[in-house]
Amino acid sequence: MTDTQYVYSFGGGTAQGSAEQKQLLGGKGANLAEMSRLGIPVPPGFTLTTEACLYFQDHDGSYPAGLEAQVDDHLARLQELQGRRFGGDADPLLLSVRSGAPISMPGMMDTVLNLGLNRQVVAALEAAGSDPRFVRDAYRRLLTMYGDVVMGVPHREFESILGAARQREAVEDDSALSASALGEVIAAFEELIEGHAGRPFPQDPREQLWGGIRAVFESWDNQRARDYRRLNGIPSTMGTGVNVQAMVFGNRGDDCATGVAFTRNPASGEPGLYGEFLVNAQGEDVVAGIRTPRPIRPAEGDGMAALFGPATAQLEEVCGVLEEHYREMQDVEFTIEDGRLYMLQTRTGKRTGSAAVRIAVDMVREGRIDATTALERVEPDHLEQMLAPDFDPADKAAAVAAGRLLAKGLPAGPGAASGRIALNAERASEMAVAGPVLLVREETSPEDIVGMHASAGIVTSRGGMTSHAAVVARGMGKPCIVGAGDLHVDEASGEVRVAGQTWREGDALSIDGSTGEVLAGALAPQESEVLAALTGEGPPTAASHAFQQVLDWADGARRMRVRANADTPEDARRARSFGAQGIGLCRTEHMFFEEDRIPRVRRMILAATAAERQAPLAELLPVQQGDFEGIFEAMDGLPVTVRLLDPPLHEFLPHGDKALAELAAEMGISASEVAEKAESLRELNPMLGHRGCRLGVTAPEIYDMQAEAIVRAACARRRAGGDVRAEIMIPLAGTAEELQRLRQRIAATIERVQAEEGVSTEILIGTMIEVPRAALVAEEVAAHADFFSFGTNDLTQMTFGFSRDDVGSFLPEYIEQGVLPYDPFARIDEAGVGSLVRAACEGGRRAKEHLHLGVCGEHGGEPHSIAFFESVGLDYVSCSPYRVPIARLAAARAALRREA
Ligand code: PEP
Ligand code: MG
Repeated sequence: MTDTQYVYSFGGGTAQGSAEQKQLLGGKGANLAEMSRLGIPVPPGFTLTTEACLYFQDHDGSYPAGLEAQVDDHLARLQELQGRRFGGDADPLLLSVRSGAPISMPGMMDTVLNLGLNRQVVAALEAAGSDPRFVRDAYRRLLTMYGDVVMGVPHREFESILGAARQREAVEDDSALSASALGEVIAAFEELIEGHAGRPFPQDPREQLWGGIRAVFESWDNQRARDYRRLNGIPSTMGTGVNVQAMVFGNRGDDCATGVAFTRNPASGEPGLYGEFLVNAQGEDVVAGIRTPRPIRPAEGDGMAALFGPATAQLEEVCGVLEEHYREMQDVEFTIEDGRLYMLQTRTGKRTGSAAVRIAVDMVREGRIDATTALERVEPDHLEQMLAPDFDPADKAAAVAAGRLLAKGLPAGPGAASGRIALNAERASEMAVAGPVLLVREETSPEDIVGMHASAGIVTSRGGMTSHAAVVARGMGKPCIVGAGDLHVDEASGEVRVAGQTWREGDALSIDGSTGEVLAGALAPQESEVLAALTGEGPPTAASHAFQQVLDWADGARRMRVRANADTPEDARRARSFGAQGIGLCRTEHMFFEEDRIPRVRRMILAATAAERQAPLAELLPVQQGDFEGIFEAMDGLPVTVRLLDPPLHEFLPHGDKALAELAAEMGISASEVAEKAESLRELNPMLGHRGCRLGVTAPEIYDMQAEAIVRAACARRRAGGDVRAEIMIPLAGTAEELQRLRQRIAATIERVQAEEGVSTEILIGTMIEVPRAALVAEEVAAHADFFSFGTNDLTQMTFGFSRDDVGSFLPEYIEQGVLPYDPFARIDEAGVGSLVRAACEGGRRAKEHLHLGVCGEHGGEPHSIAFFESVGLDYVSCSPYRVPIARLAAARAALRREA
């Protein structure tokens, strides 16, 4: 006998567990226990712990000692509480078995209902006067679920037997089948199971129960659960709980119902109960999208209250109690049996980005949570979704006027998308390689998640707002429409038929997941209203105010500053409107590519001597100066880090004989001379080549010109009354010597030009840390730098030895195979690249205690990486302007977590 408690009871007004025990009991089990403690009506039962599941996983499917005896004890208690016997035949106790992991994985694992029924019990119940249609329907549901989940019989085989029975009786709905038809279905199901599994469906209820428990434990490790965990970063070491619970029936007649509700609208965040229900149905019918449910509180007409007055009032009250208790929006499942309400589940509700922001802001106003909690609840992804694209209303109106509106479904996931039709998840994944895809299906199932992930948007012809497609798409932040019943999706023939037209796989469609409209052809998505309000291109809205409120709280909570990578005055202005506190990286080469400059740049590159280079450089100087003045003006009062030229020179030369010949004509030299020079600049490994400060060392007049342009621009702004905080940044240094030489030369330019201009303003000189060597000798490097900015793009490239340009040839497979957990160019590799960053911070600050530290690689806008940069004590992150709001929030969340 073991002392470990593997089974915890709940129901009947008490519970052994509580909401605090999610790791041990799983989310569902912990919340069932908590609801019992709150006196909320919950069908009683017990939870097998995740520890039992982990033991099962680690011991080839055997149970820990004592588990069976503990289940027996709890079953005995449950029988006593309910006054019914499991396996009894007159008024039996029937049980459900459901999975419940510590982190919700909707629909990923298995459920079996109506355990305890068998032929004998069915006959006895009928003899005692129960409605044979109800009893037989319950038994055939058990056969279906048990056959599928425990005995491995494909679900569709049951469906086809049921379909044939519906046809024979000429009815549309399973619930309309006669008792005799159900009797035949049962016989056919039993035969199917025995034929497929090689053994009959177990008639012994105890064997059924343990079969169900085993199946749930095993489902923790099935393919779709593993895929879901991989996509959502859920560790596989958590295990699932198993909840064994007395059955209540939503399908025992017209005073029964089942439904799903949110305590606030999960799409908009609007306060008030929001949900759907089905009369005379079981919960699976709602979640699987088999029948389209009705709104509990419709905008017009009667809702649930008209049919189930007291139960609806009680549901409203329970939802109020739950919100007050959890101080968080809840997603609940309920059943009404003979007019009485039972709560089957409560959990934190998934929500769209705009709902998350609105709920957080509303709850702070309502005094339920504080601003810190609000920041914990709004994810960087939520803000990203709010900045997601939308269709231009005029474009859409024109498309509708032209008869392109094909169907309208339920707006399940906001945002606009257009793409080519894919009719199954596998095709969606394949087709997505070549451009955006819309996954169009009758309904989705957990097997589809990889394909859903690959799609730009999802449309289903069946199901409701809480169907699988809707819940999963919202979690992924994908535009999604469900229940678009006018679409006839015929996967077998590869067609979607609607309004007398036929669409084939590969044809273009557009969807507006905020309104539920499906449109023919491709419409171009456009930026969001929040984005427009932020940039001043559109009016402020309620959503943009709430968005701003969250960012204001974030600004109060974060330690790191957030700058933007911006190369033009326009980008700088936009970045500032997103809250950027300066520019962390201005890539000067981007200015070189503009039409009026590139000929001069090419003349400068092709010059045979330094003297020849002077003329084109002199022409470039005022142009660059003008750029910098514009940027300094846009960022007045804030720091602007200007990076000197970085890419290898060959990148600026035209490609192809024709273009080279044109350039030769322009420059008045022979085509062969141009070709020769271009050839001499060509490099085998340009990313490791003659670029960055190596150009500065070998062709110093380029950096001289750029430094002069920066200083003259700063002086001009100063004279105009501006507040300039210019920083000159040297790229790709690997040694202290490189930096020392370049710094000396730049400092001399600053001094000379300021003397000529008669203006003095402080200009810092710093370096990027992009070469592993520089990180390792950071202490020496820091002696010549006023600041470090980590160029984690190059640092990742050089640390892994992965080419930034060609990594696509194998990196996806590395991630797929699990060789790397994620793309290190998107999210910082903490163990490797991160150690170099950490070492460089420490080395740099050994040399200069207050050395200013930042990051300007792509990782500067990625939330996990931002948390890492917080942990090493960087002063700021710098990212693309559109990610600035996301970085502001992520930096605040990282700071709060660090303090906690
Ligand atoms: C970097 O390497 O991280 C960086 C910001 O520079 P670039 O991407 O221009 O090489
Ligand atoms: Mg770089």
